[in-house]
Amino acid sequence: MSEAEEIAEIRRAVQALCAEFPGEYWREKDRDRAYPGEFVDALTRSGFLAALIPESYGGSGLKLDAAAVIMEEIQAAGCNGASAHAQMYIMNTLLRYGSEEQKAKYLPGIASGELRLQAFGVSEPTSGTDTLSLRTVAVKDGDHYVVNGQKIWTSRAEYSDLMLLLARTTPREEVKSKTEGLSIFLVDMRAVVGNGMTIKPIRTMMNHSTTEVFFDDMRIPASALIGEEGKGFRYILSGMNAERILIGAECIGDAKWFIQKATDYAKERGVFGRPIGQNQGVQFPIARCYAQMRAAELMVHHAAAVYDAGGNPGEEANMAKMLASEASWAAADMCVQTHGGFGFAEEYDIERKFREARLYTVAPISTNLILSYLAEHVLGLPRSY
Ligand SMILES: Cc1cc2nc3c(=O)[nH]c(=O)nc-3n(C[C@H](O)[C@H](O)[C@H](O)COP(=O)(O)OP(=O)(O)OC[C@H]3O[C@@H](n4cnc5c(N)ncnc54)[C@H](O)[C@@H]3O)c2cc1C
Repeated sequence: MSEAEEIAEIRRAVQALCAEFPGEYWREKDRDRAYPGEFVDALTRSGFLAALIPESYGGSGLKLDAAAVIMEEIQAAGCNGASAHAQMYIMNTLLRYGSEEQKAKYLPGIASGELRLQAFGVSEPTSGTDTLSLRTVAVKDGDHYVVNGQKIWTSRAEYSDLMLLLARTTPREEVKSKTEGLSIFLVDMRAVVGNGMTIKPIRTMMNHSTTEVFFDDMRIPASALIGEEGKGFRYILSGMNAERILIGAECIGDAKWFIQKATDYAKERGVFGRPIGQNQGVQFPIARCYAQMRAAELMVHHAAAVYDAGGNPGEEANMAKMLASEASWAAADMCVQTHGGFGFAEEYDIERKFREARLYTVAPISTNLILSYLAEHVLGLPRSY
C-alpha cells in the first residue's frame, strides 16, 4: 500500500469509529463533565492511540503525520480528542529518551490499553508560561526520589495510570543555565495516589477532566527518572514540537467540522424566501475560514514532514499550532454567526465545540509565546524576557 493509500485508509477507519460516538454521546458527557471512557477504550482497541509506539512493542509504528491525521479526523467528526491526545504526544519523550528497560516495562501495556499514559504534569500555579520557574522538587534519597510541590491543569490525571512529571532536581541557584536542573519522571500513579499524590478536579468551561495535583513527600523509585538527571527541560522541548503539531492537526479537524456545519446550514436555512448561503455576506466568512484552514493545514503537514525526516521543526511546529488554532477559532465564531440563534442551542453541538475550540490559542502554549519564539529565534529580534 502506498503512503497516500495508507493515510486514506486511516481516515476512513477513524471516521467509521467516530460515527459510533455521535453528538448525543458528547453532549451527555459534557453536561455531566464525565470522562468519555468508552470512546477512549474504542480508540485504544482499534490501535489508534498506539500509532506512534513501535511495532516491536505492540504499536503500529506510524509516523507523526499519520498520528496527526488520526487526531484531525477525530475532531472533524465532532468528537473530542482532548480526552486522549496526551497519549500520543507524551509518547515522544518516552520513545526518544526512555531506557530500554522503561520502554519494555510500559510500552506493551500502553499499546494494549492495559495502561493509560494520559497525564503530563508541567504547569504550576505560579509557572505556566514561565516553565523554568517551576517549584516542584524531587530530591534523591537512596534509590528513591521524594517529590514535593504542586501541579495545575494536569488534565486526565484521574483517568491515567502513568504521569510524565517535570520537577526540579537541582536548585536554580546551583545551575549555570536556568534550563538545567530539571528532570523528567515517568510516575506510576497507581502506587502513589492517596500515598503522597492527591488529585483535585477543576471544573472548566468545557469537559476537559483537568485537575490540580499535590505532591506531599511522594516517594518514587529512582528508576522512574527518564534519561539523565537535570536534562529534563531539553527532553520536554523536543517532545513539545510533536505536541504542537498534533494539537495543530486537532484544530484543523475542528475548523473542518465548523466549516462543514456552516456550509450545510447555509444551504438549507431559508430566510426572506431564499437560502441564507445565497447572500455573499454569509458566504464570504465561510469561504475565508476555508482558505485560512487550508493554509494552516499545509503548515501542519509540512511541520510533521520535517519532524518525520528527523529535522528540528521548532519554527514550523510553532507556526502550525498558531495558525491552526487561529483558523479553528475563526471558524468556530463564523459557525455560530451563520447559525444565528441556533448556534447557541445545545442540540446543534456548535456551542460545545465552540467552548472546546477556545482552549487552543492558550494551551498548551499561548499565541503570544509563539510570536515571541518566532520574533527572537527565527527573526533575530532582541530577547524580551
Ligand atoms: C483546560 C486546560 C488544560 C491544560 N492541560 C495541561 C496539562 O495537561 N498539563 C500541563 O502541564 N498544563 C496544562 N495546561 C496549562 C497550559 O499549558 C497553560 O495554561 C498555558 O501554558 C498558559 O500558562 P498560564 O495559564 O499560567 O498563563 P500565564 O503564563 O499566566 O500567561 C497569561 C497570559 O499572559 C501572556 N504572557 C505571559 N508572559 C508573556 C510575555 N512575556 N509576553 C507576552 N505575553 C505574555 C500569555 O500569553 C497568556 O495569554 C492546561 C490548561 C488548560 C486551561
